Amino acid sequence: MKIRLASTLQSDSIVDGEGIRTVVWTQGCPHHCPFCHNPQTHDFNGGKLFEIEEIKEEIKNLKGQDGITLSGGDPMVQPLECLELAKYAHSLGMNVWCYTGYLFEDVLKNEKMKSLLEEVDVLVDGKFLIDEFSMDLYYRGSRNQRVIDVKKSLEYGEVVLIEKYMKTKIFSNLYKKEDGMFI
Ligand code: SF4
Repeated sequence: MKIRLASTLQSDSIVDGEGIRTVVWTQGCPHHCPFCHNPQTHDFNGGKLFEIEEIKEEIKNLKGQDGITLSGGDPMVQPLECLELAKYAHSLGMNVWCYTGYLFEDVLKNEKMKSLLEEVDVLVDGKFLIDEFSMDLYYRGSRNQRVIDVKKSLEYGEVVLIEKYMKTKIFSNLYKKEDGMFI
């Protein structure tokens, strides 16, 4: 099985979820959010096809990573491929975060997407909305997006947010100068 990725794995990220993470940048996104940070990942024919086994091998050889983050692009458009990687990460004791432009409720309605969801620990859902953009958010770009505890949400049958990551950061403005710089 092959997966279409925008790039090779990016390890040691501290901004794509809790802890030290390896990001899997999937290629292909149907949402086209205005001002998306990664427009080069939208094209379904862009990026490059990689053997899943090759990516698994890379993940296995990583050092000091808490988990993988499926990002992109939208991982939900390659659900079975991402499911393979999510299962493999779990088998190595790593946790799995996933970013999607779909809403949690929509993911549940699609059998293949739901199968990936069931192998994800934390889902950050929803499109990036420029009117809701803020730099004072944890692990999300706009206020409409939700950091969701997937296991609890599936268990309770409703979205359970991870409250500590739904808060607004309180420190950034303390250091920000009038010209917008921090130093
Ligand atoms: S869902 Fe994410 S990758 Fe897709 S257009 Fe929106 S911000 Fe960009």
